[in-house]
Amino acid sequence: MADQPVARTAAKPASLHPDGSDPVLSAKQQRETLKSAGDSLYANRVKVYPKAVSGPARQVKWAILIFCLAVYYLVPWLRWDRGPGLPNQAILLDLDGRRGYFFGLEIWPQEIYYLTGLLILAAVALFLVTSLFGRLWCGYSCPQTVWTDLYLWVERRIEGDRNARMRLDQAPWSASKWGKKLLKHAIWLVIALATGGAWIMYYQDAPTVTRQFFTGEAGGTTYFFVGLFTATTYVLAGWAREQVCTYMCPWPRFQAAMLDEQTLIVTYQKWRGEPRGKHKAGDPWDGRGDCIDCKQCVAVCPTGIDIRDGVQLECINCGLCADACDEVMSKVDRPKGLITWDTLAHQQAKAAGKEAKYKFFRARTFIYVAALVILSAVMLWGLLSRATTEITVLRDRAPLFVGLSDGSIRNAYTLKIINKQRDAQDFTLSVTGLPGADLAVRGQDDSELSAEKLVLPADTVSTIRLFVKAPKAQLQQERLSVTVAVKNSKTGERAAAETLFIGPPVP
Ligand code: SF4
Ligand code: SF4
Repeated sequence: MADQPVARTAAKPASLHPDGSDPVLSAKQQRETLKSAGDSLYANRVKVYPKAVSGPARQVKWAILIFCLAVYYLVPWLRWDRGPGLPNQAILLDLDGRRGYFFGLEIWPQEIYYLTGLLILAAVALFLVTSLFGRLWCGYSCPQTVWTDLYLWVERRIEGDRNARMRLDQAPWSASKWGKKLLKHAIWLVIALATGGAWIMYYQDAPTVTRQFFTGEAGGTTYFFVGLFTATTYVLAGWAREQVCTYMCPWPRFQAAMLDEQTLIVTYQKWRGEPRGKHKAGDPWDGRGDCIDCKQCVAVCPTGIDIRDGVQLECINCGLCADACDEVMSKVDRPKGLITWDTLAHQQAKAAGKEAKYKFFRARTFIYVAALVILSAVMLWGLLSRATTEITVLRDRAPLFVGLSDGSIRNAYTLKIINKQRDAQDFTLSVTGLPGADLAVRGQDDSELSAEKLVLPADTVSTIRLFVKAPKAQLQQERLSVTVAVKNSKTGERAAAETLFIGPPVP
């Protein structure tokens, strides 16, 4: 089928009534209105104007926001004394020096599996939290949520709350509107620049790169990445907002696999709220639900949805709708918790008038916990038994072997030996599995070295050539498995690698 051109409408702010009151339609309802009005085959984005709300969920969100931002911006400034000649930044991914520093731990490129293990641990922990509490990560600590909340806070300080922002967007351009918009975007950009700048500090010494950045001495790569992260922060938190959670992030798509009827999620207690309808002070509550259809839960929702429609992909489980509804319930003198954290199983039982018990520990949570424990133990064991010496052996393939005039056979190897210690160390090099073997060791510059006293410089990967010679008469097989090992003369630590010694066919 040929591609059809798709007409697009401009994004429209949710309309206010002529009297300035807010009709509060969910983003879904507004999209449907636009589509049915024949505006376009596909309705464009409907701008969401989340209303400010206070309550326990909001307080927890503020606390997590402050904690996450403080950690992100301040961690690069933490110092950690590693001795002379080494970076003193507590967390530093030194790409030029090919090292990762995490407080007392120094990760070499060969040990990147520690980072992989850490990422796997984080993923399993996320699966566990999601299976227990739904999208807790999305609603409270995802960077997109944290920075969008911060940007919204700035927007509210300058443009006002929901109705004022909607009125401002619908008003013609004036000096006051220009002033507010320019101020808001300027502050957004400063936050974005601080965010991009902090990111770079995880890769370079924070005080040095900050000074270089402002004096124009930083490299092009630094300016490029600061620019890139400034732009992405500004666009994602300032403009895209809930669109990232709804359309761009893959997590909502497959997190459904981790949820079940025992997962605690933000739910509207339909059995208690329906039939909904307006309520006047003094009206009886008999024969009706507790929901007064005030739509405050919709007005505060950062993704613009109506929680009363049931579980939805757009819901980030932030609980702000519960805060808003609790406020309303207090005002109309009904019990709080019409929107609350609950499991679907619990809700069904309550609706049927039955008792229900929370079942936090199910097969899936046990599996996630077991995976977490095993992975953590493996990581810990790996860290505690971390070697300071490593060796890899690469056998020459051309020629496979050399027959010498004295009748012996010689194989050549390239060794890479890592000495992770902070000073030069003496090693003994040996080859086992080959009787009568004679070793010759050479440096990269072809200098002769001693296998009995191999001095390897501090904190380096040394490349060494090893020539192993054996009398032909000793070779009982064409291919012999041999072990090349180095042993630290002082500490006794040993590192070894398996390889082959190849000779001519044995008759
Ligand atoms: S805030 Fe509560 S009472 Fe108001 S519409 Fe939402 S669920 Fe109903
Ligand atoms: S429906 Fe409630 S919990 Fe879900 S995103 Fe909206 S405000 Fe947050």
